[in-house]
Amino acid sequence: MIIMTKKGLYCEPGHFHIDPSGAVDHAVVTHAHSDHARCGSQNYYSTVSGLPLLKVRLGKKINVRGIPFGEKFNLNGVDISFHPAGHILGSAQVRMEWRGEVWVASGDYKREPDPTCEPFESVTCDVFITEATFGTPSYVWERDQNLGQQIYDWWSANAQRGVNSVLFAYSLGKAQRVLGVLQPFAQRAIYCHAAARELNECYLAQGISLAPTLCLSTLAPGAVLRGELLLVPQAFLKSEQASVLGEKFETAFASGWMAKASSPYYNSGYDRGFVMSDHADWNDLVRSVRESHAQRVYVQHRGHGALVRHLRELGLRAFPDSDLFPKYPDQLALF
Ligand SMILES: [Zn+2]
Ligand SMILES: [Zn+2]
Repeated sequence: MIIMTKKGLYCEPGHFHIDPSGAVDHAVVTHAHSDHARCGSQNYYSTVSGLPLLKVRLGKKINVRGIPFGEKFNLNGVDISFHPAGHILGSAQVRMEWRGEVWVASGDYKREPDPTCEPFESVTCDVFITEATFGTPSYVWERDQNLGQQIYDWWSANAQRGVNSVLFAYSLGKAQRVLGVLQPFAQRAIYCHAAARELNECYLAQGISLAPTLCLSTLAPGAVLRGELLLVPQAFLKSEQASVLGEKFETAFASGWMAKASSPYYNSGYDRGFVMSDHADWNDLVRSVRESHAQRVYVQHRGHGALVRHLRELGLRAFPDSDLFPKYPDQLALF
């Protein structure tokens, strides 16, 4: 039902791509991150809650249909439905059914609690295509850590010394999750980068509770902050706007990469690291594959080596997603 092409996963009978890397006729999009949602396609299919984010990213004029989670729609005879992936607001796994066989493409997913998105839902299938961003056994997230408390304590301790706290987080998903976990704690507004403003508004408009924010672009020229929390992308420190920090500030990075000292980001000079990932850790990757009851599994991303080997030890037929490239591409377009 699904093959790999130069533009990514493609459903031949349904004539649609999943998260295509270039322009196509029909793009079924799992979520609005830039490595999954790209410009130029004729028709987009998104979850209802992911749709406003997709429009912020790809423009208001895209031709997009929003489909609620769990509701079936049909493209050229293939039944499709979206199921929550727990990654960011509106992020979906794609379930596809054709001639009695069910495939699920996971997109990016996580199983940790997140007050800013729909929780992951296990979907039974014959074939599961799973992501594996953190697909080695050394990436395991601590359970039940209170990230809101941790970040708030760091901010408060710095504030008492008049030191600003600069927390780096991606503008879509991670920034809102930080604001979500801080919501029960924060009494003061958090300064956000202009890049996050419209995205924050999409979350608020859908009833997600976020800590109060102020946009950095509203500060008067020459203003210098003291003891504030700034939630910004990494490029901020090198921008002119960084002058608002004055002399005294600490930095931290909120990422799954902070879980391991040998990761590419761990030794980048941050004062603090918060292990906050929007992807499943090793245990949750394995658990999700098992809960899908799939007998055949394809693994995406760089983590495929260790995960493919481990799943084979568990008796599953597991392969890297490159095995989905057809052996005889000339014979395509039969449908
Ligand atoms: Zn993503
Ligand atoms: Zn991704």
